[in-house]
Amino acid sequence: MAIERTLSIVKPDAVGANHIGEIFSRFEKNGLKIIATKMKHLSKEEAEGFYAEHKERGFFADLVAFMTSGPVVVSVLEGENAVLAHRDILGATNPKEAAAGTIRADFATSIDENAAHGSDSTTSAEREIAYFFADDEVCPRTR
Ligand code: GDP
Ligand code: MG
Repeated sequence: MAIERTLSIVKPDAVGANHIGEIFSRFEKNGLKIIATKMKHLSKEEAEGFYAEHKERGFFADLVAFMTSGPVVVSVLEGENAVLAHRDILGATNPKEAAAGTIRADFATSIDENAAHGSDSTTSAEREIAYFFADDEVCPRTR
């Protein structure tokens, strides 16, 4: 199986509800390693640039307002099939459709305040990791 990297964000709702540690714990229990992390309060420009693929969507302004409403925790996770493994742990975008025991089922309140972000492909992951982290901020432990 391929060792991949993916970008993870604990969104403002989950940071505000004090769930950072519980979310990190679920990643680690599922074999994903945190190889970079930082807390940031995103500017409007940073949130718009990160979600540029959604800029034509009706929910874009609400999404940017939510993502800038409080600090987030941005991390790089590494592990086997990390992109899909991470999205499985998060659950479906809409918490009403998220499987029991997933982060969104347990911590999200609605489709717009849904606790966490995960890259949707290795291509997205590469772009999203570079968006937030310089090469020397990523610390793989596999060397
Ligand atoms: P994700 O990859 O599972 O995060 O989902 P998407 O890439 O499709 O959407 C990005 C983010 O936009 C989601 O995580 C939600 O926070 C938000 N979002 C998606 N669909 C909707 C919607 O229909 N309404 C609102 N308000 N927000 C949405
Ligand atoms: Mg997405």
